Amino acid sequence: MTDLPSLRETLDAHGLLAKKSFGQHFLLDLNVTRKIVRLAGPFDGRAVIEVGPGPGGLTRALLESDAGPVVLVEKDPRFIPLLSELDDGSGRLTIVEADALKVKEADLVSGPAHMVSNLPYNVGTALLIKWLTGPWLPHSLTLMFQKEVAERVAAGPGDDAYGRLAVISQAVCTARIVMHLPAAAFTPPPKVASAVVYLVPLDERPSPERLKKLERVTAAAFGQRRKMLRSSLKQLGGAALCEAAGIEPDVRAETVDVAGFLRIADALQ
Ligand code: SAM
Repeated sequence: MTDLPSLRETLDAHGLLAKKSFGQHFLLDLNVTRKIVRLAGPFDGRAVIEVGPGPGGLTRALLESDAGPVVLVEKDPRFIPLLSELDDGSGRLTIVEADALKVKEADLVSGPAHMVSNLPYNVGTALLIKWLTGPWLPHSLTLMFQKEVAERVAAGPGDDAYGRLAVISQAVCTARIVMHLPAAAFTPPPKVASAVVYLVPLDERPSPERLKKLERVTAAAFGQRRKMLRSSLKQLGGAALCEAAGIEPDVRAETVDVAGFLRIADALQ
């Protein structure tokens, strides 16, 4: 990787400018991308999927790491020739031109893999929900989001950012913010700061049916987050539902932990 031209030179050589519609904000400093990859690893030779490689800053760091196969999923066809320059012909790198919202991860890798991505912000949450609730099980997910979204994923009860996304994320994974990055770290800089969240699936993942119930309960509870659960969950069973789950009906959603929401979901008829 050290013989390659810089990422900025590569972008210039290919005449590529960032497109807003693809949520393109690039990390051109390899010290930053290497740090993200260090936080995501070690990979011990396991496969890594990277969604949205763009000019390939994270990809270069992944190829320097102990990752096994590296599979890239990029929607913008302009980047495919540039990414192909990273392929040493060994068969380790696979480049897939596709919309990550539509691909089946199980078709990209055999079995679980690590996911590492500086996500396009416009579809970041949708992709996370897809990976949390879909059939494919990652080893870990190391994902760059805009800071507010990262906080909504990793928040705990009582935090301002605690809500549906935290409950769904933490019913499936442990989640913590491992890195903060200012807008100026990106080219072009976005309007907001960013943060990297590291998620690891729990040994016992809720079944798809249980997750669907959890989504119904959290949508109702946080849809009216200022109300007591007896009111916000009225359509689903109100106070009786809370009592069946061993939760005090007069508390607000923001104080109930993930285990409590799972109990409410389980009590739902
Ligand atoms: N990984 C690069 C980096 O860190 O410099 C680029 C990150 S940029 C924030 C997001 C990337 O995701 C862009 O390359 C963009 O073209 C790509 N992208 C946007 N929507 C996508 C989608 N639905 N599926 C796959 N890639 C997508």
